[in-house]
Amino acid sequence: MDLQNEKQLEQYLTEQFEWFHRHPELSYEEAGTTARIRELLAGAGIEILPYPLATGLVAVVRGQKSVPDGQDRTIALRCDIDALPIVEETDLPYASENRGKMHACGHDLHITAGIGAAILLQARREQLCGKVKFIFQPGEEDARGALKILETDVMHDVARIWGFHADPTNAVGVIGIREGYVTAAVDRFAIRVQGIGCHGAHPDDGIDPIPVAAAIIQGLHTIIGRNINAFHPALLSVTKVQAGTTWNVIPALAEMEGTVRTMQREDRVLYERRLRETVEGIATAYGAKAEVIWIDSAPATYNDGRMARLGEEIALSQGMRTVPEEQSLGGDDFSYYMEEETAGRQIPGCYLKIGTGVGHPIHHPAFCVDRNVILPAAKYLAAVLTADIE
Ligand SMILES: [Zn+2]
Ligand SMILES: [Zn+2]
Repeated sequence: MDLQNEKQLEQYLTEQFEWFHRHPELSYEEAGTTARIRELLAGAGIEILPYPLATGLVAVVRGQKSVPDGQDRTIALRCDIDALPIVEETDLPYASENRGKMHACGHDLHITAGIGAAILLQARREQLCGKVKFIFQPGEEDARGALKILETDVMHDVARIWGFHADPTNAVGVIGIREGYVTAAVDRFAIRVQGIGCHGAHPDDGIDPIPVAAAIIQGLHTIIGRNINAFHPALLSVTKVQAGTTWNVIPALAEMEGTVRTMQREDRVLYERRLRETVEGIATAYGAKAEVIWIDSAPATYNDGRMARLGEEIALSQGMRTVPEEQSLGGDDFSYYMEEETAGRQIPGCYLKIGTGVGHPIHHPAFCVDRNVILPAAKYLAAVLTADIE
């Protein structure tokens, strides 16, 4: 097969996409997926960096054109590779063969478009200066897979990083892109309210943790309205409340869990502080004790302005249309690559959305990517990476 021929490349990538769709693997179990990516890249003569990753891999295309200012430039593209524990409900001829697992988030497209972009750049490496690293990342659905990649030194020389996601709210040929925040910081909390259990008819013998939990829930919901700048997006959801075993016993314990989403870093810090103060203050007022467990997950993703403009320009030059990328209080662990805390320094990045045909949302059992997007997506990413490294 001549991969320099566009028609043949399209056919090849479509076949690979179907293979990946048929063989979905869950977070950190992507062994077959990784082996296949490795085989395809090696077959195209693309170098794979020898990182000791259990799943996922990093490939590199080294440009052969000398860099005018002598500076070594490296940019990266993140492609996530894992699937979801969903029973597929499509009648596609290439539907999942691993029952109960499904590429319902389009990561099969991410893999294939990434491989396609690498093949296109490898063919033009004589005209390319600098290096492009292709990060095939495990465990995005777990929101911590990026941290596995960041245990390697892959980002040490990376100047900028690109990421993308399949977008079933837009047609093929539409790129969603914007400068600024596009995904939220994802934090998780658990609260334990310790009271004193007693008979349901004699609450004065104990400390009922249930009204304390109720007051805490009310209190937590006022943090956004009263403490966070009204122009800043933020959200709190209490998603689990548990207490008691029967109708005539006041329990000793009430437990809650939930999530906080913020965009601005200062709001994230403020929210955690106010949540702790609210929980502890209310518990004390009721004579109970409360404990807060706060778990930081991925930070917010902030798209660099210069990169967003470049992504837009390239889309238009490829005959695509651009729309303002929808902001989401969902998260993506792509943001870890840009953070000082995890990447070692701040690295500008841009996370964009590639229209995959309007249909069921991601994570839906009937989610489906229009295969006509595969080659244009690969070409678009290759063009963006080429332009960015110039
Ligand atoms: Zn997903
Ligand atoms: Zn996804």
